[in-house]
Amino acid sequence: MTTLIKNGKVISTTGVIAQDVLIDGEAIVALGAPGYFAGAEQGADTVIDAAGKYVIPGGIDVHTHMELPFGGTFASDTFETGSRAAAWGGTTTIVDMAVQRAGENVFEGLAEWHRKADGNCAIDYGFHQIIGGVDDESLKAMKYLTEHEGISSFKLFMAYPGVFYSDDGQILRAMQTAADCGAMIMMHAENGIAIDVLVQQALARGETDPRYHSYTRPSPLEAEATHRAIVLSHVAGNVPLYIVHMSAGDALNEVAAARHHGRNVFAETCPQYLWLTLEETLGRPGFEGAKWVCSTPVRSKDHDPDYIGQMGHGHQGDLWKGLRMNELAIVSTDHCPFCMKDQKELGIGNFAAIPNGIGGVEHRMELLYQGVVAGEMSLERWVETCCTTPARMFGMYPKKGVIAPGSDADVVVWDPNTKTKIGINDKHHMNMDHSAWEGWVIDGKVDTVMSRGTVVIEADQYVGRKGHGRYVPRGLSQYLV
Ligand SMILES: [Zn+2]
Ligand SMILES: [Zn+2]
Repeated sequence: MTTLIKNGKVISTTGVIAQDVLIDGEAIVALGAPGYFAGAEQGADTVIDAAGKYVIPGGIDVHTHMELPFGGTFASDTFETGSRAAAWGGTTTIVDMAVQRAGENVFEGLAEWHRKADGNCAIDYGFHQIIGGVDDESLKAMKYLTEHEGISSFKLFMAYPGVFYSDDGQILRAMQTAADCGAMIMMHAENGIAIDVLVQQALARGETDPRYHSYTRPSPLEAEATHRAIVLSHVAGNVPLYIVHMSAGDALNEVAAARHHGRNVFAETCPQYLWLTLEETLGRPGFEGAKWVCSTPVRSKDHDPDYIGQMGHGHQGDLWKGLRMNELAIVSTDHCPFCMKDQKELGIGNFAAIPNGIGGVEHRMELLYQGVVAGEMSLERWVETCCTTPARMFGMYPKKGVIAPGSDADVVVWDPNTKTKIGINDKHHMNMDHSAWEGWVIDGKVDTVMSRGTVVIEADQYVGRKGHGRYVPRGLSQYLV
């Protein structure tokens, strides 16, 4: 089964070059100047004409939560619906968060995640392991998972006391273990102990609307936790540390300073922090703001009044700048969808009971391409932050994340000459009863998507199949200092 993608412009981290791409079976076998494979074209099983279009590596979303149990309910996308929605958006690999909570066994948590995903995915998938209960047993498991299970990254929480929270001593121990085996620590950096006090005080004052979700998680508490995580990672032997879902300029300052000092510190942000504001989303009247309740929260268009260190552009401007400067290495989605009905509505009259999460796995490539159109980043940087760096950061390169001979044929043909309208009655394939991006129009469109040589999206049709996606065991990060 051979495929030729001809007449397109291939985007890599280093340039945009007119090249034809030859695929044999599941792998890319050659790139050539336009027309170079004219001889092979006749024998090719499939020819895709990408004239006027871009050819990019399939997107990699390294932060998703399919079927996550949270707040008395479950994230509404299964691996089947969520991985299909990802494919619709030009994402061909997800790395989901397997869960272990205090008192639970890590191996059982991981086995449960394999059960959920196995045979159900439209695209390839890997796992990070959440360690919600750091103890002797889970520390031993971290080492085993890194060496034998292809899981080289572990997520810890400085937020959610009583659910996923680890104290500083537990964090230090987990970091020391990761340092021993070369694994990455991923951190949800918010001071959850202080946040819980602010939440209780707000509720006692009768402040129950969704917007108080953001007011009770002010950005200095994200910056403080980010700083503390960086200090602990240094003490633990410069263990690689990756701050997830960064939302605030003051937290970004901490990462920038650490990187300036040569530390193994990295960070990601998500489309909601780059494009949405508290005023336009959470702050809507009534309960509608619940659609945008996620943690870290969507922030004010201005810096918080007690923001430490002024960059002067608001949080969003800071984050776009951070993406350009590589202070932010990756854009993921933190895809964690909940419907309004029966799920978000659990928090009517109490914002703290609204399940935390936004569904976005379908729209990351689109929303970041809009950043290119808006002049915030280059085409090369779009591919770097959404496709190539995720593969390199989490040990999947060069199998994933690049269009090169020998790499998996995970390829997206992107049409810059047409538009995408996002919305529940427009483009929307996630299992949710609303869209956080309702009415957004993107200057560009996913044209064709291939996963390991198989076309899964073409001509506005899903032509893939459940079970095509395979588990991707991962190695260590390539970015260690
Ligand atoms: Zn988190
Ligand atoms: Zn998350």
